[in-house]
Amino acid sequence: MARAAVPGRLKVRRAWRPAHLVERRPETATASTLVLDVPGWPGHQAGQHVDVRLTADDGYQAARSYSLAAPADGDRIEITVQEVPDGEVSSYLADDAQSGDSVEVRGPVGGWFVWRPEETGPVLLVAGGSGVVPLMAMIRSRDGASPAPFRLIYSVRAPEDRIFDHELRRRAAEDGQLDVSFIYTRTAPEAETRPVGRIAAEDLVSRGWAPESRPTVYVCGPTGFVESVADLLVGLGHDPARVKTERFGPSGP
Ligand SMILES: Cc1cc2nc3c(=O)[nH]c(=O)nc-3n(C[C@H](O)[C@H](O)[C@H](O)COP(=O)(O)OP(=O)(O)OC[C@H]3O[C@@H](n4cnc5c(N)ncnc54)[C@H](O)[C@@H]3O)c2cc1C
Repeated sequence: MARAAVPGRLKVRRAWRPAHLVERRPETATASTLVLDVPGWPGHQAGQHVDVRLTADDGYQAARSYSLAAPADGDRIEITVQEVPDGEVSSYLADDAQSGDSVEVRGPVGGWFVWRPEETGPVLLVAGGSGVVPLMAMIRSRDGASPAPFRLIYSVRAPEDRIFDHELRRRAAEDGQLDVSFIYTRTAPEAETRPVGRIAAEDLVSRGWAPESRPTVYVCGPTGFVESVADLLVGLGHDPARVKTERFGPSGP
């Protein structure tokens, strides 16, 4: 009985669903959150993503993957898109999309890079750039639903690139079990004492959890960032099976 139900469920998730844009909210000069209404949305878990498909007037189509930025809320989903220079889909979504625009979405996709509120152990989140998006979904899902202590280490080029900056600071100030720290690779605020530069082992030691605490670790960002951080974590003694990664390389056909 249960086996017979699976193919039907998979088919539903693989199907493209019509969606329309309810709101586009700028997060930084080059990133926006899009709130989409997707009738019949089946719900999702923090860390999963969707495929978004755009169709031009002449029928040309382009599809890309975007992480879900917020917990499931009926038929509403949120994605946050960072504009990639000369990017076909991201420049439209981050900069031009208007309320009422129609797109299609497919998903939710992914079952490994997820965090569930039933999990209560320590969590380390390590983000590079827009890789913060699925990690923000985890932070938002945890709110009032789990006592799990979270630490986020968020690497950005410069202060103006911090997505969700205000909300992250507010949540960290209000919640003793959520720690948020930033790493700047090119330009740092004046008060910052850490020299600018890529994330290093000492950053993971001073701002993360000791391997003995057996945290579950989620690392997300550009491919090079993810590989380097995962190597550092394993080198520090973290159990590779507890280090979950999501690479934001180019997506689409
Ligand atoms: C599982 C998954 C989840 C993702 N989630 C998000 C998300 O939440 N938010 C988000 O902003 N992006 C996310 N991405 C990246 C996204 O899918 C697109 O790759 C990105 O928006 C660029 O698409 P584009 O059409 O604008 O660029 P394209 O027109 O495809 O490419 C333009 C140029 O940029 C390069 N490029 C393409 N993608 C990237 C990239 N990610 N980083 C650097 N250079 C790139 C290409 O090689 C090319 O040179 C995710 C990717 C994956 C695989």
